[in-house]
Amino acid sequence: MRLTCWGAAGEVTGSMHLLEIGPRRLLLDAGLFQGRREEARRKNEHFPLDVHDLDAVVVSHAHIDHTGRLPLLVKLGFAGPIFCTPATRDLASVMLPDSGFIQEKDFEFLKKRGHNHLAEPLYTAHDATLVADHMVSLPYERPLDVVPGVRLTYTDAGHMLGSASVALDVADGGAGGRATRRVVFSGDIGRWGLPIIRDPKPPRGSGPADVLIVESTYANRVHESPVEAQAMLAEHVNRVAKRGGKIFIPAFAIERAQELIYELHSLERDHAIPRIPIYVDSPLAVNATDVFRLHPEAFDRSERLVRETDDLFRFPLVKYVRSVEESKALNGLRGPAIIIAASGMAESGRILHHLRNGVGDSRNLVLIVGFQASYTLGHKLQEGDKEVRIYGEMVPVRAGVATIGGYSGHADRNELKRWVEGLGEPPRRAFVVHGETEQLQAMAALLTSLGVPRVDIPKPGEPFDL
Ligand SMILES: [Zn+2]
Ligand SMILES: [Zn+2]
Repeated sequence: MRLTCWGAAGEVTGSMHLLEIGPRRLLLDAGLFQGRREEARRKNEHFPLDVHDLDAVVVSHAHIDHTGRLPLLVKLGFAGPIFCTPATRDLASVMLPDSGFIQEKDFEFLKKRGHNHLAEPLYTAHDATLVADHMVSLPYERPLDVVPGVRLTYTDAGHMLGSASVALDVADGGAGGRATRRVVFSGDIGRWGLPIIRDPKPPRGSGPADVLIVESTYANRVHESPVEAQAMLAEHVNRVAKRGGKIFIPAFAIERAQELIYELHSLERDHAIPRIPIYVDSPLAVNATDVFRLHPEAFDRSERLVRETDDLFRFPLVKYVRSVEESKALNGLRGPAIIIAASGMAESGRILHHLRNGVGDSRNLVLIVGFQASYTLGHKLQEGDKEVRIYGEMVPVRAGVATIGGYSGHADRNELKRWVEGLGEPPRRAFVVHGETEQLQAMAALLTSLGVPRVDIPKPGEPFDL
């Protein structure tokens, strides 16, 4: 066996790992590199493998940094199956065409600036729709031979709807008397107690895993708990409603937006917040919410709201906004309201016109519920800038700004430790991926302290014989 990490190696995005098992070639994830536009573009356009040599792709979850190069793979002629969970398949059917649309826009942007040496976008929205032809959905904990001699079992990763950790049991037949070897790929590890979705379930084998490929996004951070997050949300809604203000929540359209709707639904049922209107103003979020409705099998039945309601996302206070006219009409809204709109870092999308219209009013609140990268508008607001640039104009900030950290979808240091311990015995060997340098090193140290004898931080394209 041989492992080569081609993406999320020494960094977070671009997740893609090649596993060669005898003559078979299996790809784990085919994610897009994200970040600074031109650098990401350069990394994405040089696909390092001949896609005709690949037998199958196994996808961990629908986030674009794990699926965003699937359309490229298909465009380059990949003809094999792409395995994923049923919810990942449906979310990808919404998210990949959206990514294709962004690729088309990026291409136009670069062409206008004379930077572009390419004749066409990386892929188009139409290319992205063709991925669905290849997708074979496999529910959690239903083992399946994906290529001869390799059995795949998904377990819930607790990170987003449909997210999975991957266990591959490889028929070995070699020396040592062991019939199989086990490779575990964590995918992105979520958290215990997140709304809607179930808790992470580390894939536990009958003995130690032979190889673990594990993420490290927040290996040296500790988050607030999801329970504290709900209480903080209630407190903000009550305070701002009392003073007649609006709450603007920049939110990622998939998962975070649905979690917020769910949390507000919970609070409303418990009479913990006043009855003020809630607008979900993002066509992608509205589409993704429809996908959530189709996948109750992935919901956490131990949560009261899941057990007690038939539709988590429909209740009298919530309104879904698709059209631009309706979205603009919200600017004239009087009285308290909650507006959830993309993008999650307030860099683009409809949240911008709401912020332009509302950050000058001291009754209002901008509520940050997700990670804000440096230099983004969300980050500037979070840092307390008194004036921000929106649509090229400086706008004074008089609204309050607050952050709730507890909704992060990524395991923190303690949760990563809990997950690794949940594997049973320490793996014989581990590869740390999906993190910045400091986090990769923190995760490597954590694994060593948990008794993993051999830990590597792979470089992109560096092969390891297993
Ligand atoms: Zn993810
Ligand atoms: Zn990721």
